[in-house]
Amino acid sequence: MTKEERIDNMLKLSGTDVRKCMKCGKCSGRCPAYKDMDIKPHQFVSLLGKGKIEVLLECNAIWNCLSCMACVERCPRGVAPANVVEAVRETVIRMQGNNGIKAEDIPPIVDELIPQQLLVSAYRKYNR
Ligand code: SF4
Ligand code: SF4
Repeated sequence: MTKEERIDNMLKLSGTDVRKCMKCGKCSGRCPAYKDMDIKPHQFVSLLGKGKIEVLLECNAIWNCLSCMACVERCPRGVAPANVVEAVRETVIRMQGNNGIKAEDIPPIVDELIPQQLLVSAYRKYNR
């Protein structure tokens, strides 16, 4: 996959329009994991918009994001920084060759309290 194809793929995975960002930084101001993010939420949006994905693919922030969606709620432009973080995370996992959960890897009972829907959606998500 070329770099351009990868950028295009990440934009599609995120499902958000990074061009609408007005660089106000409000998303980062609301982020509860701010201190642990070496790349801040608004920078995810900005860097993907500029096609500077190398730094995104190497950052630790994707593992520290809490997926709380506070940045999405705060954005006055309807941009979803959390989706960009998720798109980068998925891309890294795919590049590592871990894009897949085999049915036989899932034990019959994972946890009695985990809803069935969660397992099905995780199975679908990681087998795309
Ligand atoms: S979803 Fe992630 S990036 Fe967005 S506010 Fe929550 S922790 Fe921060
Ligand atoms: S809150 Fe929205 S518009 Fe402001 S920097 Fe973040 S993504 Fe961009």
